[in-house]
Amino acid sequence: MPQSDDHTTVLIADDSELVRKTVSRIMSRLGYHPVTASGGIEAVSLLQSSSFDALLLDISMPEKGGIDVLRFVMENGYALPVIMISGSGDIGQVVQCLKMGAYDYLTKPVDAHRLQIVLKNAFSESALRRKVRLLSAAVDQSPVAVVITDNRGYIEYANPSFTAFRSALTGCRLQENIFDDDAQPENLSVKFRNAIVSGKVWQGDYCNHKRNGELSWEHAIISPVASQGESGSHILAFMQDITESRKNQEALLKSNRRFRELADLLPQPVFETDGKGFITYSNRAGFSTFGYSRKEMKRGIHALQFFAPEDKSRLMHGLRMKKTAGPLGTHEFTVFRRDGAGFPALVYTAPITGRKGSRGFRGIVVDITELKESERMLRENRKKYLDLFQAIPDAIIVADAESGVLVEWNRQGQFFFGYTPEEFSRLHIGDLYPEQLREAAVAYFKKACTGQAGTLETQIVTRQGIRIDVHISSAAFTTEHFRCFVGIFRDITQQKRSDRLVSENIRMKNDFISTVSHELRTPLFSILGFTGTLLREQDELDRETRMEFISIIHDESKRLSALIEDVLMISRIDSGRVSYKKSELDPSITVSEVCRSLKIRADEKNIDLRLRVCAPMEHIFADQDSLKQVAINIIGNALKFTYSGGVVQVRLSCDARSLLFSVEDNGPGIPAEDIEKIFEKFFRVERSGEAVDGTGLGLSIVKEIVAAHDGTVEVKSIPNQSTVFLVRLPLLMKPCRK
Ligand code: ADP
Repeated sequence: MPQSDDHTTVLIADDSELVRKTVSRIMSRLGYHPVTASGGIEAVSLLQSSSFDALLLDISMPEKGGIDVLRFVMENGYALPVIMISGSGDIGQVVQCLKMGAYDYLTKPVDAHRLQIVLKNAFSESALRRKVRLLSAAVDQSPVAVVITDNRGYIEYANPSFTAFRSALTGCRLQENIFDDDAQPENLSVKFRNAIVSGKVWQGDYCNHKRNGELSWEHAIISPVASQGESGSHILAFMQDITESRKNQEALLKSNRRFRELADLLPQPVFETDGKGFITYSNRAGFSTFGYSRKEMKRGIHALQFFAPEDKSRLMHGLRMKKTAGPLGTHEFTVFRRDGAGFPALVYTAPITGRKGSRGFRGIVVDITELKESERMLRENRKKYLDLFQAIPDAIIVADAESGVLVEWNRQGQFFFGYTPEEFSRLHIGDLYPEQLREAAVAYFKKACTGQAGTLETQIVTRQGIRIDVHISSAAFTTEHFRCFVGIFRDITQQKRSDRLVSENIRMKNDFISTVSHELRTPLFSILGFTGTLLREQDELDRETRMEFISIIHDESKRLSALIEDVLMISRIDSGRVSYKKSELDPSITVSEVCRSLKIRADEKNIDLRLRVCAPMEHIFADQDSLKQVAINIIGNALKFTYSGGVVQVRLSCDARSLLFSVEDNGPGIPAEDIEKIFEKFFRVERSGEAVDGTGLGLSIVKEIVAAHDGTVEVKSIPNQSTVFLVRLPLLMKPCRK
């Protein structure tokens, strides 16, 4: 309400300068700020350009009179009190002005006291009006329905919001505007009526029909109003359409329900905690997995009690990080049931954020017992296969099918090829082969990679440059990331050697058969020839010739017999059927006999066969025939291979334990590479020049006989110079001698 101060501006419109001045002076004295207009037109113009708190308006002014200006003020809704100034004869016009809305009037000459009272009243009424206008504008524009009824509920006032959704007829009772049926949870109209009648404040939500028939939710506050000192004479009701918020609330409830139902369907525990870490929600799986009841949860279960003490700090750290930096770190924990049994789980959590920041956590627990078990089995299987891979005695190499670079190898592979793992990883499959064989080996590798794997016999070269015969079998397999070649390398050096030995054996046996046949045929033909001549020409032949023939036949028969003996002997040895009739004997006697029998052959070849027996000669325990056989074979060989004019020296001596029987000749000798082989069956040194009779059995018979007597036989030979055979046989120990 404007007070009488400089800010309260009053417009004085009067054509009389005297009036303007007089009134202005009074105004100033009263503390108001006067503004003057000398006519109606100026007054209208000032009203349009400035704002005033009151208007003093002369009724009679030329051009535009006070009534015209008042009409302008009323029509344009200016909210300022208008006080008319009239002359003494203007009473009819004054009445007209008051009817039009003027607040009061003053008569000329204007009395200062009356002006003061009229202005004061005008200002206070104007303020009141402004308040009423504001209130009614507020009520009119309020989105909340406002209704005023009498104390029986008859509507006396309803604002537009109410009438927008309800037919608010005055004279109609408020409770009749309430939809009431059985669907309503409470008897609402009764509640309303009771609230109205009781004169107490009531508020509540209820369902109602809108004017258009739509169902809506409303919130109402009903309170009694005391008017003109009479308490409870009226009822003020506020009603608000809360259908939207109700719908939102219901949608929220529905979505909450949906979340809970879905969470209950999950086989994994789902939980929520409050800001202090106490469990506030768990789905069904949570209760069944951990063994707690809803009641216990309500009493308070702290989330940390599900974790092992050593995991708690890691968990807390993870949660803190999550609040600031989102999901980080490992989620794997051992969680414990109520009965103390633990199981491995992945625990995923997320902060529950509200307006004031984090309000706790929600999360899900995934039991990974089975996953862990299959991981363990996978690890075990992998280890098993790795151990197997490493334990395989063949070298295994795995190479990338695309690049040919080696990617894996087993222990034997490393050992076989001689590379370190670092060196291996830099190698190409082709690097494992000698240069000449590389192209073929790489071609084989490529073929194997397409699955057309066969086998390959080739040679590899080791890091040390050694070539080894190998048999390769291969396979190609595809993993998730690459295709590779697996080669199994088997060292076939031994097998090759055996193959060579077998073919050598076959060759030697064939040689033997033809040699034996030849050896047999020669004396046999000689015998046949001489016996035939004897039979045909016995009468013509003189006795001397006949005797000579018979002697030749005898010698050849003996040779034949010896040969057959050799073959039989070796076959007996091979089949293990030889039995030695050992007895104490003087080896010098046996050897001397042999030398004597061979003397003829030595003389025939003009070889000097010498025997030297060193004293004292000890006895041995041996089979005499076998010892003779040994001497015949060794001395016989010396005579056979030594050239005419050569010397064969036979020596017999003893050392502390053994009899030493040596035969030395100065014949062609034995090549160093054959020295080892001459004791093998059927082996004969291949020599150029005149063929020498023999079966390749003599020395192998010697070796077997000497071994059967616990002795040894050695040979030393210098080609084209000398050959010495030395046989050692154990001496018969004196106490054992018979
Ligand atoms: P063979 O019936 O061929 O004599 P042996 O087993 O007695 O069979 O001898 C095997 C081979 O050893 C002979 O073929 C010969 O080449 C060689 N050999 C044995 N003794 C001598 C020797 N004193 N001088 C040279 N070579 C010998």
